[in-house]
Amino acid sequence: MAGRLIDGKEISAQIKAELAQEVAKMQKESDVTPGLAVVLVGEDPASKVYVGQKEKACAELGIFSQKHTLPADVSEEELLGLVGSLNSDPQIDGILVQLPLPKHIDENKVIEAIMPEKDVDGFHPVSVGKMVIGLPGFRPCTPAGVMELLKRTGVDLVGKEAVVVGRSNIVGKPVAIMLLQQSATVTVCHSKTKNLSEVTRRADVLVVATGKPNTVTADMVKDGVVVIDVGVNRLDSGKLVGDVDFDGVREKASAITPVPGGVGPMTIAMLMYNTVQAAKKRAGILI
Ligand code: NDP
Repeated sequence: MAGRLIDGKEISAQIKAELAQEVAKMQKESDVTPGLAVVLVGEDPASKVYVGQKEKACAELGIFSQKHTLPADVSEEELLGLVGSLNSDPQIDGILVQLPLPKHIDENKVIEAIMPEKDVDGFHPVSVGKMVIGLPGFRPCTPAGVMELLKRTGVDLVGKEAVVVGRSNIVGKPVAIMLLQQSATVTVCHSKTKNLSEVTRRADVLVVATGKPNTVTADMVKDGVVVIDVGVNRLDSGKLVGDVDFDGVREKASAITPVPGGVGPMTIAMLMYNTVQAAKKRAGILI
């Protein structure tokens, strides 16, 4: 029997509805409106779409948003200057610089320039360090979205075999750390992993983030597996697919995320969550 769908659209809508209530309450009780600044450099079409989605989510939730669009040939110095002024802007709780940046700009330098208190993307080394040692702080949005999907679907992770395929700094590695913190037994695979299917077949929970369609097919999973597909790939036909052979794997899985409509909407919901958390600190609701 086909596994049930883990509906990221519905779960993200729930999270956003909860956040909208919190925002309204905060405005009423503390007169604080959460503020997010999004910085877009250049004309990358995918980045423009993501920035548009973030602005739309802010508007839905009553979060103040500010978009800064800079030309692709902007100097690193100028971008760092903008980040510096946003750091000291009292209306702004979160700063997000949309990645990737043009080659002449050092991404790490820009990420490190964002003050950790406003690092709602969770990429600053301070946020990463806090995540690794389990201290409160901003968690990166896509991995946090993966964890929230598992939590709200009622997947118990304690003692489970969790396999993550992909080890990037923005998805694979942080997901692995978060699964470990929930007491799963975690294995991380990558392009040099030998016998990938031998490892993936052990998984009770399988998270795939490779950016390659069909990285995981039905013969590579065991019956009853829970599958979270982070991948987003546009085929030549124009169709959007994940990294997992959805139709085949769904036949064996107990639950699986679709692409689109799985992890994607969760990323934005978690960005909104982080922004509201930052504003709560400003309002003195969180310490
Ligand atoms: P990266 O390209 O940075 O990392 C891909 C990882 O997958 C690498 O660790 C690589 O291994 C590994 N890998 C690649 N091919 C294979 C293979 N055949 N077998 C095993 N491992 C493999 O990608 P990201 O982590 O940034 O993104 C992954 C996917 O998630 C992409 O499709 C991206 O679009 C999507 N994504 C979706 C988001 C969302 O909001 N839904 C947000 C962020 C990303 P190695 O390290 O050895 O090279």
